[in-house]
Amino acid sequence: MAKLLEGRPVAERIKEEIRKQVQSLKNKPVLASVMAGDNAGAAAYVKSQEKNAKDLGIDYRLHKLSHDATEDQLIEFIKKLNADKEINGIIIQMPLPPQIDYKKISQFILPEKDVEGMHPVNIGKILFGKAKILPCTAAAVMELLKETGLDLYGREIVIVGHSEIVGKPLSLLLLDKFATVTVCHIGTSKAGKLEEHVRKAEVLIVAAGKAGLIKGSWIKEGATVIDVGINRVGDKIVGDVEFETAEKRASCITPVPGGVGPLTVTMLMRNLVEAVKLQIS
Ligand code: NAP
Repeated sequence: MAKLLEGRPVAERIKEEIRKQVQSLKNKPVLASVMAGDNAGAAAYVKSQEKNAKDLGIDYRLHKLSHDATEDQLIEFIKKLNADKEINGIIIQMPLPPQIDYKKISQFILPEKDVEGMHPVNIGKILFGKAKILPCTAAAVMELLKETGLDLYGREIVIVGHSEIVGKPLSLLLLDKFATVTVCHIGTSKAGKLEEHVRKAEVLIVAAGKAGLIKGSWIKEGATVIDVGINRVGDKIVGDVEFETAEKRASCITPVPGGVGPLTVTMLMRNLVEAVKLQIS
């Protein structure tokens, strides 16, 4: 039976480091959170960010814009936050109302205040192995892999999902560790080759958002499985991997919920501290 790779203990350890770093700073770090309109999912995420920030001694400031705010209004607001010396980090809550394109507006956040690590400058730095601020979910997966103690050098790693927040940045971070990285996506599935790739994975990372996409019987014996997926099935939250069969074959596996999730918001707070360091250096 696989060992459970739980995110909470890892998050607690990293939070302890963050707390110490926050205490050593001259000023309390300030995270500005921008929400346009009302959305239950975004509100829940904001609540969790607020709680984490408070726990770490971070000043969390929520700014609510109307659901009919325009792109230009949001960009103007971001520019104000950029210019405000008190603000160390800016996060835009998703989802945004349909008239606002996240990719467009997020580029207006100064790279040194981009705590989500999604500004092209920060993404570009990953390519050169120089990134200090990493996309939160990709960073959370890297922390979990570190926790396994596995040497990634030369490992056969398969990522399912090539989104900009998870699969793409992870592929670069793992290449930097000299792993052999295969990235699968909808084209792989349509070509009927997903199972073939998954079967060879010594480390499997899945972020597709499709419950049961990865059959437990595909998991290589002794593999490490990181399931990023979050899917609601009836009244249950499940990942993308068939957990019950996968845990019989893997050597370690993340539970869903309780694996990657608890670490993601911790990575956001760590990015804020990195942002402060960039701003004072
Ligand atoms: P996304 O932007 O929708 O990306 C999903 C990726 O999976 C895409 O690359 C997509 O390929 C691929 N995909 C979809 N169906 C597939 C299939 N049948 N076969 C192969 N690839 C397939 O989603 P995301 O934002 O990366 O999130 C992915 C999942 O992770 C979601 O369940 C989300 O809720 C979860 N998530 C969890 C956390 C956390 O903290 N635990 C954080 C972020 C996201 P194409 O683009 O080619 O269609």
